[in-house]
Amino acid sequence: MAEKIVRNTTKKSAPAAKPAEKAAPAAKQAAETVKKTANKQQTVITPNKPTGGSTVGLRIGACVLWLLAIACEVLAIMVLMEYFIPPFNAMTFLIIAIVLDMALAIIAAQLWKKANHIKPMSEKRGKFLFYLWNELGVIMACICFIPLIILLLKNDKLDKRTKTITAIVAVVALLITGAASADYDPITAEEKQQAEQQISDDVYWTQFGHKYHLNADEEGGCPYIRSSSTLYKGSVTEAIEAGRTAICSYCAGHYAQEMGLDLDQLNIEGGVVEEGD
Ligand SMILES: [Zn+2]
Repeated sequence: MAEKIVRNTTKKSAPAAKPAEKAAPAAKQAAETVKKTANKQQTVITPNKPTGGSTVGLRIGACVLWLLAIACEVLAIMVLMEYFIPPFNAMTFLIIAIVLDMALAIIAAQLWKKANHIKPMSEKRGKFLFYLWNELGVIMACICFIPLIILLLKNDKLDKRTKTITAIVAVVALLITGAASADYDPITAEEKQQAEQQISDDVYWTQFGHKYHLNADEEGGCPYIRSSSTLYKGSVTEAIEAGRTAICSYCAGHYAQEMGLDLDQLNIEGGVVEEGD
C-alpha cells in the first residue's frame, strides 16, 4: 500500500547520527517517538495499487499519441511547403503545431515508460534492444522534430523572422521532449523480479526523486530523504511502477548488508556509496 507521509520539516536536518546519540539508542528512540507524535503531521493517502497486469493499453495509448504528434509535425511541414495555407498567421500556426507535437510526444513517452516499469524487458534480449525499447521516447522525439527542423532551416519561402523564431521554438521543443522522454534508469525484468523477491519491507521515495530508499528513520536513516517534506511509502513494486526504478546509492551502501540484499542482482543508481563516504 503506497502511503504519502507529510513531514514537518521545521526541524533542522542532521547530516548523520552523532556518536553521543548512538550511546543511548533506546532513550533516544523513546524521545524520538514522543517528538514524532508531538511534532509531526502525517497524512496517509489512498494507495495506488500496483497494476501488475497488462501494459497493452499503455503501449497502444503511447503509439496513438506519437502518431498524433507526427500528424502535427506533418501539418507544420505542409504549411512550410505551402501545400496547406493556414487560416491565420503562418508563424502562429507553426508554433501551435510544434507545441501540440511536443505535448503529445511527452505524454506518449510517459505512458511508454510507465509500461516499461510495470513490465520491463528482459536483459536476455541484449543491451542494444533493451536501450532501444527503453529509450523509444527519445527516438520518437527525434522523429517528431528533426525532419521539421531540417525543412525549416532549408526553407526559403518563409520570411526570415518567421523562420528564425519557428526554428528556435522547434529546437527547444525537441530538447524538452527528449529530456522528458528519456528513461534515466531503465530496469530489467530480472532486476525488478530480484527487487520484489529480496525487498519485502516498505521502501520510500520523494515527490521528485528518481530513486527509492530503504531507511526513512529520522535518526540514522538515509540523509537524502531526511529533509523531504513529503515521503511516499510502499512496496518496491509500487516504487518501481512510480518510476523509482533504482535503489539510492547511499541506502545500498549503508543498509543493504544488514537487510541481506544481494546488490549485484539489483538496479543501483550511480554505484554504491560505501560506509564512511
Ligand atoms: Zn537513500
